[in-house]
Amino acid sequence: MSKVHNWQIGREMNYPYPQVFPRRQFAFVFNINRCIACQSCTMACKSTWTFSKGQEHMWWANVETKPYGGYPQFWDAKILDLMEKSNPGNQQWSGKPSDDKQKPYGQFDGKTIFEAQNTLTPDSARVLGYLPTDEEWNSPNIFEDNPVGKKGVRNELDKEGTALPEHKTWFFYLARICNHCSYPACLAACPRKAIYKRPEDGIVLIDQSECRGYRKCVEACPYKKSMYRGNTRVSEKCVGCYPRVEGKDPESDGQPMETRCMAACIGQIRMQGLVKMNNDGSWGEDRYNPLYYMVHVAKVALPLYPQFGTEPNGYYIPPRWVPRDYLKQMFGPGVDDAIERYTYPDRELLAVLQLFRRSNRIIFRYEIKEGPKIYEATLRGRKITMYNDTVIAYGQNGKEIFRTQVEEPIHVRPNKHANSI
Ligand code: SF4
Ligand code: SF4
Repeated sequence: MSKVHNWQIGREMNYPYPQVFPRRQFAFVFNINRCIACQSCTMACKSTWTFSKGQEHMWWANVETKPYGGYPQFWDAKILDLMEKSNPGNQQWSGKPSDDKQKPYGQFDGKTIFEAQNTLTPDSARVLGYLPTDEEWNSPNIFEDNPVGKKGVRNELDKEGTALPEHKTWFFYLARICNHCSYPACLAACPRKAIYKRPEDGIVLIDQSECRGYRKCVEACPYKKSMYRGNTRVSEKCVGCYPRVEGKDPESDGQPMETRCMAACIGQIRMQGLVKMNNDGSWGEDRYNPLYYMVHVAKVALPLYPQFGTEPNGYYIPPRWVPRDYLKQMFGPGVDDAIERYTYPDRELLAVLQLFRRSNRIIFRYEIKEGPKIYEATLRGRKITMYNDTVIAYGQNGKEIFRTQVEEPIHVRPNKHANSI
């Protein structure tokens, strides 16, 4: 085991290999508040990569309804249970979220999956994990749209039901792909060294010619994003649409493009990019990169289950209506601040949120041109002001990709169509 620094848990941790980081890292932000579970992302991925024989139950991109749904079923509850059993009562965070870049969410004092690996799994295992059953992979949409009340029990609807207008029930849609982690558990567990992280963009790939289908990666990935294919007897996983990221898509004009699942997003919840990496694994200062801004400046987007220890590169703007304890378990101690900032966005955040899905090209930098004040109100006792600022997105080559405004233009259809209002 090597000692590596994991900034998401605010401390050093054990990992089977020494730390090595790519020059740039594939990363993404999903705004859960906007996901409508249309599954366009899921189908875009499936129709691109996993439509062949033997891949019927393979969904590299999926959207599940929390708290009950999961693909595979109960993936997160199961690994959280194992972690708790390995270190009962001590899976806790200490400190507070702060501006310290080495521990922005405080410190996780419990055991990660790399540190709990020999408490419950054989000594030979490098990572704490489990292999889902075939049944658990069978129903990717199970419990879709099932809410839970305050007294909800896992697997059951609220027996008392609920009455309008209290709306005490809740659920939300969690869109997921491989997180192309900085400390991938799949890579750590592979006895064949068939899994590698690309130095140019941090995308994690399985070398199909080296894999022998031992499924150690499937067992180890806490997000269960490495999957076994029975008819070829090798494992497969999300490839980060690397030809698009490399600018090889015919539409891309040689410029990096976002993945298929991002491009298809109807709810405009997704933004993917490439962030600069320092030698110590922290993100290179890049103030006007939209991902850098949302994760490190506005701190409105948080990693999914940072306590697992893999340093996932997927970040989520948490849903406002969900009980905080549930969200803190899922996204760590930064939840209160992130929701506060999203609920009362400042001028810059409001402009940056307009960048989502206006183009399929990867945005490397944005610029804001200030516009006039267009709205002022008091929201839950707080004054909010909106400005019609223009936000301009630039690509890798420094050229403008598009510009858009905070206030969406209104088009009134002329009264000459059969269905005109
Ligand atoms: S999410 Fe899982 S499969 Fe993807 S890089 Fe991380 S550990 Fe590997
Ligand atoms: S396409 Fe977007 S809005 Fe639709 S389910 Fe996927 S993430 Fe959600």
